[in-house]
Amino acid sequence: MRVDELIALKRDGKTYSRAALCALVDMLVRGEMSDEQVGAWLMAVYLNGMTDAETAALTTCMARSGECLDLSDIDLPMVDKHSTGGVGDKTTLVVCPVLAALGVGMLKLSGRGLGLTGGTLDKLEAIPGLRTDLSIEQAREQVRRIGLAICGHTANLAPADRRLYAIRDTTATIDSIPLIASSILSKKLAGGARRLVLDVKVGRGAFMKTRKRARALAQSLVRLGGALGIQTVAILSDMNEPLGRTVGNALEVREAIEMLRGEPGADRRLAELCGALASVALMLCGAEPEEYERAIAQVLTDGSAARKLAEMIEAQGGDPGVVEHPERLPQASVVRPVLAAKAGFVRRVDADRIGHAAMLMGAGRAQKEDRIDPAVGVVLHKKVGDAVSADEPLADLHLRRLEDAELGTRLVREAFQIGMEAPEARPIVYELVAGV
Ligand code: URA
Repeated sequence: MRVDELIALKRDGKTYSRAALCALVDMLVRGEMSDEQVGAWLMAVYLNGMTDAETAALTTCMARSGECLDLSDIDLPMVDKHSTGGVGDKTTLVVCPVLAALGVGMLKLSGRGLGLTGGTLDKLEAIPGLRTDLSIEQAREQVRRIGLAICGHTANLAPADRRLYAIRDTTATIDSIPLIASSILSKKLAGGARRLVLDVKVGRGAFMKTRKRARALAQSLVRLGGALGIQTVAILSDMNEPLGRTVGNALEVREAIEMLRGEPGADRRLAELCGALASVALMLCGAEPEEYERAIAQVLTDGSAARKLAEMIEAQGGDPGVVEHPERLPQASVVRPVLAAKAGFVRRVDADRIGHAAMLMGAGRAQKEDRIDPAVGVVLHKKVGDAVSADEPLADLHLRRLEDAELGTRLVREAFQIGMEAPEARPIVYELVAGV
């Protein structure tokens, strides 16, 4: 079938056969579809959706469009983790070392951030010397040796997704459940995942603004994972306010290190979410439920989770001393407080606005080519539910350029809503979505 005939099928609401989808993905990666044709096809899928069987076939063809890893020779129970992305989300930096310290193998292929703040690779690269461009063989050897590697996707992993994602980004077709699900799971399938914990974010700082949409995405991912032979469990978590107390690459690494070192004062919601994600991973590996909490607490208090992160940093060429001495991480030259204009209770800290402020200060990329400044970002002193007096610091801006202070202050102030009554507490973990 010609490309235009394949596009017309979906435009007219028809269902594709597996062979038709594979032909389409082949033409896509061989450059036999123009950007206009890809855009038209994406819009047809966006508007008319896909069945579960179509989504599974598309995902398999996308995974097979490049190299597929087989991790079955690694003699550890392997788990993968994925977050749909949010502001201040440093859970990977906490959960992966915790699990590796408990004997779970983690080969995590991560991405960079485009949009509000840096992705996991940008955060890790805030650590002096650390490399994320490992070859698959290096990553595999590192997991065999120390149980943990976090690195970038190789160019040949699900190349169909790379092309589709770039065009989705400019054709208003990002927000489609079959396209999101096939994009995420094609990379996981190609990366050799057999067990997967998903953190599906919901709220102002997330793709999915409502619980209904987030639940629909989570259910689709769990069903699709099951159909592809990946045991998948999703957690729906709140992304209305930033996660934890820091937004910005080195600042987030520092917060993760402090949590791994079991230091007092950790953000309760971040700790709860990391605990839930690690527990689901242990459940997928067959651990007994009554063991999860004790085991996780143990590796945080005896230092083995922090040591595991230091081992990984060293293995990837970074300075492992940052775990003992986080002050060695890049630091901003200017720190400016943002003061509360009035007294009351914090009713809202808008994740989207805080993320936007951090991005404009240099913590994220507006364009793919933008350079990230690892030192800059926002440290939140007040979170939702906290009491605040007039002129008390709500947050600190960590800046490279003094001229960013004015805009940063305005955006952070706007992110905070202060009222006379304390708001109702909102859970960090809304629900768990598992297969039936
Ligand atoms: N993450 C992905 O990898 N793909 C999407 O489409 C959305 C989030």
